[in-house]
Amino acid sequence: MRLHAVHQFAAALFGGRCFLCRGATGRGAVLCAPCLADLPRLRGPRCPRCALPSPAGALCGRCLAQPPHYDASFAALEYSFPADALIHALKYRGELALAPLLAGLLAGVLPADEWVDVVLPVPLSAARLRERGCNQAMEIARALPGRFRLAAMLCARVRDTRAQSDLPWAARVRNVRNAFHCARALDGETVAVVDDVMTTGATLDAVAAALKRAGAARVLNWVVARTLPPTEA
Ligand SMILES: [Zn+2]
Ligand SMILES: [Zn+2]
Repeated sequence: MRLHAVHQFAAALFGGRCFLCRGATGRGAVLCAPCLADLPRLRGPRCPRCALPSPAGALCGRCLAQPPHYDASFAALEYSFPADALIHALKYRGELALAPLLAGLLAGVLPADEWVDVVLPVPLSAARLRERGCNQAMEIARALPGRFRLAAMLCARVRDTRAQSDLPWAARVRNVRNAFHCARALDGETVAVVDDVMTTGATLDAVAAALKRAGAARVLNWVVARTLPPTEA
C-alpha cells in the first residue's frame, strides 16, 4: 500500500511530461508515444538460453561450449540509449515511476504459457541496499502485471561483492561465484529471476547455480535489457 502511494506520487511529479523528451504524454504515461516506439527493442533471432543474437534462434556457441546454470533468458530491450538512461534513473536516482514501464515492457516478451512457481528479484547485499535505498530488480518484479508468487527472501547475497559494473568482463564470473545462497529447498520448482540488465550473465549464472543447488528444476532469466557483447554492439 505504501509503495503504491509512492508510485502515485512519482507519477504525479512527472505531471504528464515524457521522461525522455519532456513532451506531453497521455495521462499517467511515463513516455510519449514516439519515445515509447523508439525504444531499442531486441529483435531478430536470439539464443534461447542467453538472449544474444544467434542465427535462426539456435543455441549460441558460448552456451554450447559452457552451458550456463540458467535454462532460458527473456529480455525486452537492448541496453543502449535511451534504455540505459531509464534503467539508470530507476537504479541510481530512485525514479520509481519507471518500474511499471520497464516491467510492462518485460512482461510483453514473456511467453504466456510457461509455468513459473516463484519469481525472485536478484538480491542486493544489505550494504548496497542501504546505499541505494531500493533494489531496482525488486521494484521491477513488484510492478510486473499478472499474479506471481514473489519471493524476495528466497535467496540471499551471502558475500558482499564489488559492483559488477566496476570490473572488466573477465573478472565478473570470479567476483560473484558462490555469492548467493537459497534459504529453502526448491524441489523441482521453476524459478524466474528478475533483473534490470543482463551484461555478461555472470550474476544471473551465480543466482541460477544457487537455485539449482537448492533443487530448482528450471531457472529463467527475466531481464529488462540485454547488453550486446562489444564485438556485436
Ligand atoms: Zn518523449
Ligand atoms: Zn547463448
